[in-house]
Amino acid sequence: MKEKTEGAKMQELLSYKRKNVYEEADAARIKDIFDYAEGYKAFLDKAKTEREAAEEAIAMAERAGYRPYRLGDALQVGDKRYYSNRGRSVILFRIGENSLSEEGIRILTSHIDSPRLDLKQNPLYEEAGMGFLKTHYYGGVKKYQWTAIPLALHGVMVKADGESVKVSIGEEASDPIFYINDLLPHLAARQTAEPLGSAISGESLNILVGGLPYADKEVEHKIKLSVLSLLNEKYGVTEEDFLSAELCLVPAFSARDVGLDRALIGAYGHDDRVCSYPALTALFAAEDTKHTVMVVLADKEEIGSVGVSGMRSEIFMDLINEICAAKGENPALVRSVSKCLSADVTAAFDPNFADVYEKRNSAMLSCGTCMAKYTGARGKSGTSDATAELVAFVRGIFAKHGVIWQTAELGRVDAGGGGTVAQFIANLNIDTVDIGVPVISMHAPYEVVSKADVYSTHEAFVAFLK
Ligand code: MN
Ligand code: MN
Repeated sequence: MKEKTEGAKMQELLSYKRKNVYEEADAARIKDIFDYAEGYKAFLDKAKTEREAAEEAIAMAERAGYRPYRLGDALQVGDKRYYSNRGRSVILFRIGENSLSEEGIRILTSHIDSPRLDLKQNPLYEEAGMGFLKTHYYGGVKKYQWTAIPLALHGVMVKADGESVKVSIGEEASDPIFYINDLLPHLAARQTAEPLGSAISGESLNILVGGLPYADKEVEHKIKLSVLSLLNEKYGVTEEDFLSAELCLVPAFSARDVGLDRALIGAYGHDDRVCSYPALTALFAAEDTKHTVMVVLADKEEIGSVGVSGMRSEIFMDLINEICAAKGENPALVRSVSKCLSADVTAAFDPNFADVYEKRNSAMLSCGTCMAKYTGARGKSGTSDATAELVAFVRGIFAKHGVIWQTAELGRVDAGGGGTVAQFIANLNIDTVDIGVPVISMHAPYEVVSKADVYSTHEAFVAFLK
């Protein structure tokens, strides 16, 4: 081989270069990456809502030896517990041997809710030979993307006596699906001239739910009645039970490989189960007894992390306080030395929409999990902006464990922006930095990620929790 020139050596020594996970991988490693993706796809297909993701996470936790925790339970070193917050969010933790006031708690947060269409509380009506359900969209959706695709109905209806009925229709091949009508191009002259954001209105996102009139000449609203009678037959519910229900429409697609080489995964709800799943697998893989670790699977991130099951709920602090009490440590001191990775997706650079990105500081597909020192919009507003010391600390861990990762911010300056739960954890005096998987078509009914980035995220979390 030709001797490297002085300049080439200097370049190697001094320059930073982003690496592509696939380019660095041999065949055995690519097999590991692809095998891991199979488990992730199975998780996605079972977990299309936060309640389903919580249930699946709990099943995984139980298999890994985790037991339910009730506030006030006694805790000791070695305990592996999970706290189910009303079935909509889950916090898992393991109590380690080491002193918490010295090394704090290692925390991984992610969220298990995704953008979708929720049913209104009084949703059912009929018109022009069709039965419909009214919706109110949840999170940042581009409304036009939700018309004319197969949708599935998921959720719970809770009866006045407290009985909870789980609903899932549209996932089995033999199930019917649901649908939102769109306008034929022949009559869409005015619609197609509208801006994307207003071409489909929120109140036109009505779910097509039936068309067969109830066989009784005497009654009115026959299609509505036949829908109600079918629901009653299947779930034992009445129209009034919609009033105390959480029902939503999600795409009826399952997770699939994308591309001839199967390098990518298409699915509904990568944001943010593509971080939640690695958080769980990393927690279960890192069987260490020294460190105290917590994994938070939060709800309501897509609408501001509010409410009892959101990241801003006091339950997070309550659990930290209980863990500290069990170890006889001062929680304020423990928080001040704890570290958190706020795991959420970021936007992958997309050459089809290159003008909203700044290429040097964008996440590139397949270049590994992506750390964002700050998020925010309009002059970094709304970001907790992690300290350089924390970024260096995490970077050091990744280097030690051979994790391929990258750094980015979300889009060009002033192109838009966004943020997630990091700020709420940082507000508690816990050092927090954003990290997660780059996504193509984020918040679309079908999003795309690279298998390489999902695996890199798992490896990064294992390294962090060790
Ligand atoms: Mn997210
Ligand atoms: Mn999101």
